[in-house]
Amino acid sequence: MKKITIAIDGFSSTGKSTIAKQLAKALGYVYVDTGAMYRAVTLYAARHGYVSHEKEDYQALLEALANIELKFEYNDDLGFAEMYLNGENVEQEIRTLAVSKLVSKVAAIKEVRSKLVEMQKEMGKEKGIVMDGRDIGSVVFPEAEFKVFMTASPETRAHRRYKELLDKGEIVTYLEVLQNVRSRDYLDSNRKESPLLLSKDAIEFDNSDMGLKEQFERMYNYALRVIEKQ
Ligand code: C5P
Repeated sequence: MKKITIAIDGFSSTGKSTIAKQLAKALGYVYVDTGAMYRAVTLYAARHGYVSHEKEDYQALLEALANIELKFEYNDDLGFAEMYLNGENVEQEIRTLAVSKLVSKVAAIKEVRSKLVEMQKEMGKEKGIVMDGRDIGSVVFPEAEFKVFMTASPETRAHRRYKELLDKGEIVTYLEVLQNVRSRDYLDSNRKESPLLLSKDAIEFDNSDMGLKEQFERMYNYALRVIEKQ
């Protein structure tokens, strides 16, 4: 069967990666979490003091961009690829609220986006890929055969993320997480470079009141219909 490209965009904590992983597994496709790439660059920038709550030194970050090596390595036990930053497994650290609070600033930088978008295009050039992010259907793969835009209310998303962080042992408050969700929504949708937007050819998918099983079944059936038409 002909392979297609599946682009899943949407607001933070809408469950894009959960559905994208399941879809990729069911179709035998590669899954790429582009948020992990922006998070890894942010972790690098934070560790080197190029970005923090108080200050930003984007010039220094741009000069260091060439030293940032990102790699996904598939973990058989987990069933998905983990993010490596200059050879170090940073999968856990990039998911912390500390990184979430800085990532949208770093993701707004044009040069950071060009570097990552180029890598993403390369990863998807053979098709048979499910990629999630903010600009996949609009910038990375505008020609993708199946585009989804996921939404849910900020409160629903904050509850999901809050629970996830607590389960991982992070000490956070619900309000702090809600604030982060709202602030990333704002920054991601209003930045100059590749803002998050609903493209005309994407299917809008509000999963506020939908369980995982139903979400997966709907998306999977839709994907199969698109594949059959190729
Ligand atoms: O998907 P996730 O929430 O992990 O993404 C973290 C952040 O990375 C987003 O809030 C956004 O600022 C940025 N991002 C982006 N473009 C992408 C993926 C993520 O700007 N394709």
